[in-house]
Amino acid sequence: MKTITEEARQIPVCAETDVLVVGGGLAGVAAAAAASRTGANVILIEKSIILGGLATLGHVCVYLPLDDGLGHKIYGGMAEELLHVCIKYGFNNLPDCWRDRPDYVRNPCGRYSATFNIPACVLALDEFLLSENVDVIFDTNFCSPIMEGDTCRGVIVENKSGRTAYLAKTVVDASGDADVLYRAGAECETQKNIISHWAYETDLERMKLAVDSGDIRRAFNLRWLGLRPDVDNTSNPLPQFYGTTSEGVNDYIRVSRSLALDFLKKEHRDDYTMMSLPLMPQFRMTRRLKGMEDVVFVPGVHSGHSIGCVAHCLEYPAKIYEFPYEGLIDSRITNIAAAGRIVSAGGYGWEVMRCIPACVATGQAAGTAAAMAAKSGQALQEVDVAALQRKLADTGVMIHMYDELKKNADIKPGKRPPRSDILAAKTDSLSYEH
Ligand SMILES: Cc1cc2nc3c(=O)[nH]c(=O)nc-3n(C[C@H](O)[C@H](O)[C@H](O)COP(=O)(O)OP(=O)(O)OC[C@H]3O[C@@H](n4cnc5c(N)ncnc54)[C@H](O)[C@@H]3O)c2cc1C
Repeated sequence: MKTITEEARQIPVCAETDVLVVGGGLAGVAAAAAASRTGANVILIEKSIILGGLATLGHVCVYLPLDDGLGHKIYGGMAEELLHVCIKYGFNNLPDCWRDRPDYVRNPCGRYSATFNIPACVLALDEFLLSENVDVIFDTNFCSPIMEGDTCRGVIVENKSGRTAYLAKTVVDASGDADVLYRAGAECETQKNIISHWAYETDLERMKLAVDSGDIRRAFNLRWLGLRPDVDNTSNPLPQFYGTTSEGVNDYIRVSRSLALDFLKKEHRDDYTMMSLPLMPQFRMTRRLKGMEDVVFVPGVHSGHSIGCVAHCLEYPAKIYEFPYEGLIDSRITNIAAAGRIVSAGGYGWEVMRCIPACVATGQAAGTAAAMAAKSGQALQEVDVAALQRKLADTGVMIHMYDELKKNADIKPGKRPPRSDILAAKTDSLSYEH
């Protein structure tokens, strides 16, 4: 490939901070708020102009369950708090039995899950980070880490002001793509993605249904084009893509848009309208930290370094795992923590860790650890994990499964709730069509 030499130049340092969070998806929001609550000065940079990442820009407005399906709450802490932020100013289809945030319910009336209105969620997230004293810098693209050996001194960014730097004691990579860790030299892994294109639509019939039923949610539909992850796609001719190169991203966008256009051509009528398109490519996984073995995801295995219980909450009943602190850090790089869908988890574990509640939980843990390390001047590898666990537990995070669950051991599996109960029933929430 032809190359040119980029000229060396002096660039201005915009700010110095304790903790710098790269990426304002739900994991980054959680990391920033948690770091601020732990006493750090926090700056968050986001390349778009909207918080929420895939959950808002990518139309994934389904906050998967916080419970195991049997009535036990698995996710507390910020995973629970952010669910309530997401539904604060929009419609709220949370089942009554979970509204007051109990630790368990004897007769589950549905899963502890909600769909949310995207604009209302975006505005509530803005308000949330403002109230947490986080300095959010939108429209700013992370370009490269400033490394001194294995330590990151800050990052170089590009925005309307040009190329500038932010210096920080610790950095949280919540980019969804492990951009910071990868460029800092961390060992990462990647995998191919199926195309899923989620877009909003409505027509006169839906509008009439909404008016007749008095339920605004019936007025629109989330149209799912492309493939589903829960079926065998091996014989499907639709191509699959890596999201780690410009070519991969652009090919993915081209094919997913052509699916949307084909659909629109079929539905081209005066009483139908497509209302919005996703504003970021809907890759499930582009790049994540390497390191953790699948063995972590054996149900019932106790981890002394657990930063919280996690579960694939679409399962019924959901199996519960303890996610260890080591999944958030590279063994070598001293001060960049991973948050969200880039944490280290192979095989089935990755399916668990990419769900929104797990992303928020790892965001909270990464932000708290980053603030502790910034305060003590220690490397992330030296953070006192017992102290971190105590801080997380104080906010309602369930660190170890059996200590908590055996208290409610008399709760037995009931009837499996319908899938529609989790993924938004047509009568009860946003509808989905494939
Ligand atoms: C099609 C699809 C369906 C899904 N369905 C569900 C579901 O129903 N329920 C569920 O719980 N989960 C679902 N998921 C998974 C879930 O949505 C994501 O894993 C989760 O939202 C990821 O959150 P995150 O904060 O880790 O990353 P992201 O949401 O990807 O956030 C990353 C943020 O970083 C920003 N960023 C990236 N690069 C840079 C840079 N260089 N500089 C500055 N900022 C940058 C991005 O703009 C973005 O805001 C689905 C995912 C997909 C793709």
